[in-house]
Amino acid sequence: MQETYLALAGNPNSGKTSTFNQLTGSLQSVGNWPGVTVERKSGALRKNKSVIIQDLPGIYSLSPYTPEEIVARDYLLNEQPHVIMNIIDGSNLERNLYLTTQLLEIGVPVVVGVNMMDVVKKSGKRINLEKLAYGLQTDVVGMSALKKQGLDELIRHSLHAAEKFPPETAYPTYDPRLEAALGEIMDILGNTVPQKQARWFAVKLFEQDPVVNQQVDLSKIQQKEIAEIIAITEQIFNDTSEAILINERYEFIARLVALCATNDKEWSLSASDKIDQIVTHRFFALPIFALIMWGIYYLSIQTIGTMGSDWLNDVLFGSIVPEWTQQTLISWHVAEWMQQLILNGILSGVGAVLGFLPQIVVLFFCLSLLEDCGYMARIAFVMDRLFRKFGLSGKSFIPMLIATGCGVPGVMASRTIENEKDRRLTVMVTTFMPCSAKLPIIALIAGAFFPNSSWVAPSAYFLGITAIVLSGIALKKTRLFSSDPAPFIMELPAYHLPQLKNVGHQTFDRGWSFVKKAGTIIFVSSILIWFASSFDFLLRPAEANESILARLGQVIAPIFAPLGWGHWQGTVATLTGLVAKENVIGTLGVLYGQIPEVSENGVEIWGQMHMHFTAAAAYSFLAFNLLCAPCFAAIGAIHREMANKKWTWLAIGYQCGLAYGVSFLLYQFGHVIFEGGELSIGTIFAVILLLVMIFAICRRPKAQENHQPFVQMVKGSEH
Ligand code: GDP
Repeated sequence: MQETYLALAGNPNSGKTSTFNQLTGSLQSVGNWPGVTVERKSGALRKNKSVIIQDLPGIYSLSPYTPEEIVARDYLLNEQPHVIMNIIDGSNLERNLYLTTQLLEIGVPVVVGVNMMDVVKKSGKRINLEKLAYGLQTDVVGMSALKKQGLDELIRHSLHAAEKFPPETAYPTYDPRLEAALGEIMDILGNTVPQKQARWFAVKLFEQDPVVNQQVDLSKIQQKEIAEIIAITEQIFNDTSEAILINERYEFIARLVALCATNDKEWSLSASDKIDQIVTHRFFALPIFALIMWGIYYLSIQTIGTMGSDWLNDVLFGSIVPEWTQQTLISWHVAEWMQQLILNGILSGVGAVLGFLPQIVVLFFCLSLLEDCGYMARIAFVMDRLFRKFGLSGKSFIPMLIATGCGVPGVMASRTIENEKDRRLTVMVTTFMPCSAKLPIIALIAGAFFPNSSWVAPSAYFLGITAIVLSGIALKKTRLFSSDPAPFIMELPAYHLPQLKNVGHQTFDRGWSFVKKAGTIIFVSSILIWFASSFDFLLRPAEANESILARLGQVIAPIFAPLGWGHWQGTVATLTGLVAKENVIGTLGVLYGQIPEVSENGVEIWGQMHMHFTAAAAYSFLAFNLLCAPCFAAIGAIHREMANKKWTWLAIGYQCGLAYGVSFLLYQFGHVIFEGGELSIGTIFAVILLLVMIFAICRRPKAQENHQPFVQMVKGSEH
């Protein structure tokens, strides 16, 4: 029978002995730790003899100054129990959590038992255990050893944590300047210490822990480099390294306690807490979020925003502006080709893009409302919980949120993620979110092909999030990205009524930058596209089908045939989207705008798309443009954040590859299921691809290291 080892750790008087006695009953063996007169007690769990509980001496910290501390830390490091059960006194959180921050660094999963909950309750205090768990990034159980409450749950969580492979551990992160120093020490250590204990050794070496300094076999160069890092950091903080860490630990704890403890004598929940209980609820949070996003898309793309857009497209850019412009141009005797350029090139292109302004304004107005009232912070909190399940950092959600406005600041926002692998991963996937420039593509496809479905537009949003989450899960399992997510604590501000000034300001900013782009990049692109679609390579006026653009597009188009849109129009629109995503619509506007009988009506331009796209192909086109490499500006931002050509190319390659794969699946399955398409070799490939993707998501992660005893591991290698 395989045994599970659980270690009980905690401050003196936290209730460890009471817990131990309750759990083991009379099944205890008592002796001494080798070499010291510290009592050693262990015992089998009363209800399951294969679970062995090791009681550790009561300690306040893991420094090496008392025999108790040395015994406890040697046991945890060398014998590596499956899980540490950290008993803390809930009526004395601050002091007890100090040890917790250190236990979390050891590299063994920790389950925190908040004991004395009966005392806490009586005193009128309240500890939000869920928030405490969130802050510590570990399981937390409320209990009372005296009243025999919560003990079963403590064991259940501990056994659950023990079963996980690889073991899930997370440690608190501190000031970025300290984190940078610890990160560098971890790099210097390399393979000298086991990977999962790297954080522990980095912290201890930074603190200049005398025992660890002797234990780890460092080369001269390693010692010198670490000493330099310590010296620099001490200078920056103007404090000794040990004091820096103590301060940081207490600051972390203070944030944590502020997050989860309230002193609320009346025992009533504040309004904010009441709302939070629902919107951050374990099961309801995501459906509520989905519903809210559906509502927002419904308002912006289906109803209010669309009324404005229809008017702009049909009336303003459909008849008023072109008619007026045409009359003016004729009265000025402007050359025929110039008239064509202005009407079919510039007005069709810029007009097609500007037509979406009302939808964008409504969308951003709603998103700003959510942001300003405090809901978005909750969503980051909920997402963090979800992401963490998959080994992603919740901090990745902030860049994603920003990327719904524009990918460039979204990518830049990933800087707040300390863990380099997580940061790269986030940079790579953030632009899957639909930014304001992709919104017109969504609105176009939803309006032209799925006028009766209110779910198609928000589905693009969920497609983006799903692509991010599933990419994260799959990529995290590769060696390039595997690492533990760093916890982050986010203050949840109380809800408040949104301030119209803030909301107005944000909406205006985003809307204005959209208009500016239409007036610059889209303007120039429209001229070029008109030119390239009106002339052939010998610069003679040509039918659209024989134009420069058509010829170029036709070379590349076959690549997209398996996605359902292997024609030059779709290809060219996608390629011009690399300059700016608005161009996708601008290009289609110019191309279809040239068909004379439909040029006066924007909606009919959309109707023309039916000639080239089936509904499944249109959705596949939408998915491809949503997920593929972003515009040049965002690619530039990715390059800046990656600071490395190879990584930039990897990101672009991954984005395009994923976009291709997903669109392929959507088209192949959509075509067969909804459009009565025949099964073909494409369907077979789609099934294989789907299986490959499922495998990439579900496979077991590569084990990062062996479960080896400590002694072997500190032998060390020359750096
Ligand atoms: P240890 O020093 O961590 O082993 O703590 P003990 O188990 O000896 O507990 C210290 C004191 O706290 C004892 O008087 C226990 O009876 C008491 N105690 C332990 N758990 C609880 C609890 O959940 N509620 C209350 N009210 N007292 C407790």
